[in-house]
Amino acid sequence: MQQAPFPTIFPETAAVSEAGHLVIGGCDTLQLVAEFGTPLYVFDEVTLRGRCQEFLREFGDRYPEVRVIYACKAFVNRAVLRLLAEEGLGLDVVSAGELAVARSVEAAMDRVYFHGNNKGEDELRPALDWGIGRVVVDNFSELALLERLCAERGTVQDILLRLSPGVDPHTHAYTTTGITDSKFGFPLATGQAVEAVHAAQAASHLRLVGLHMHLGSPIFEVEPYEEATRAGIRFAAQMRDASGLDLREFSPGGGFPIQYVRERPATPIAAYAEPITRILLEECRAAGMAPPRLVLEPGRAIVGRAGVALYTVGARKDIPGVRSYVAVDGGMADNIRPALYEARYEAVVANKALETPAERVTVAGKYCESGDILLRDAELPRLTTGDVLAIPASGAYCLAMSSNYNQATKPAVVLVRDGQARLIRRRESLEELFQYDVL
Ligand SMILES: *Cc1c(COP(=O)(O)O)cnc(C)c1O
Repeated sequence: MQQAPFPTIFPETAAVSEAGHLVIGGCDTLQLVAEFGTPLYVFDEVTLRGRCQEFLREFGDRYPEVRVIYACKAFVNRAVLRLLAEEGLGLDVVSAGELAVARSVEAAMDRVYFHGNNKGEDELRPALDWGIGRVVVDNFSELALLERLCAERGTVQDILLRLSPGVDPHTHAYTTTGITDSKFGFPLATGQAVEAVHAAQAASHLRLVGLHMHLGSPIFEVEPYEEATRAGIRFAAQMRDASGLDLREFSPGGGFPIQYVRERPATPIAAYAEPITRILLEECRAAGMAPPRLVLEPGRAIVGRAGVALYTVGARKDIPGVRSYVAVDGGMADNIRPALYEARYEAVVANKALETPAERVTVAGKYCESGDILLRDAELPRLTTGDVLAIPASGAYCLAMSSNYNQATKPAVVLVRDGQARLIRRRESLEELFQYDVL
């Protein structure tokens, strides 16, 4: 066995066999493809567990009380949710659907947080029925709705308020959330955050236990978290003085990055944990406040690196003097990120992992959109039909955003560890594609 190419992008256990095959979790990816077909998403259990432990350790070693909740919109799968719960993670859900999945794996409800800018009554009711731990209230409409629902049932719900701190995390506009002109949260800049605290305190069926902010994703810089944490604690101190706010929880959200391409390494978790915890402790000391429980909400950083997408190479189109296109049997239906926000990836030919690059090609998907391109100008060994292309860092926001466009069936997913592969999502069947149509 040799080290895999891009060792910081592929899962921790990735290696290359004597035969030049990419191996993940002790499993030869060519054998996985023979057994499960392509497109196939492979998740490495060691990397998944390692990322959970890293968050708990890096923040927990520096701060008295830390809770890590997995933002399951990054990749929802029951087996993975079970595994993350075993590692001690709570859950962040954003819909009745995610809530239903969480319930189906009997997630510890006191550690489930409900997010979203438009939670419907049909979503809040089951959440309350289930006894959800926290509702993170996003706007004044929701505050009124939740108070009414809780009053009807005569219960008191713990809530956090989502603030919009006016911090630009310098990521794609579509994934920037903490600026004042955002659909999410109560802006600090306009005074609406103050109003929201007063309204929450006045609501007799809501107990305001904390403040939350989520700035965007992925955030490669540390400064936005520093700025937002400082602003959040200062705001909490101001509200304690103004109306007795008792800040028991504080969350700077998620958004922690992973490495996708060789020239942009991911900032390590410790580099976020150190300043966030230090600023929290400093600001609380300065304000004479007890440090609140720190709640982190990583999604991408937990599952992103653990997942590798495997595709089979099909057609080629060489346009002399222009470009060579190589098409694979997946694309925007299973990974829309390149088409949606020009996301970039690396790739390795799983059956030629020891070969050096011999050509520059553009890897196209198979769907009917010119924008369905997975990689532009990739330097790869000469590709022929039947080769298997592996794209690392595919664990987050790929399958989670997948569609049935062109009536594509959703890929199978396997979890690998110690040479064993366990199917954790079977491939969708053709019949399942039209099961909801009514004639
Ligand atoms: C999406 C989201 C997260 C997770 O973001 P990642 O970039 O996947 O870590 C955390 N908190 C909230 C409120 C979110 O909307």
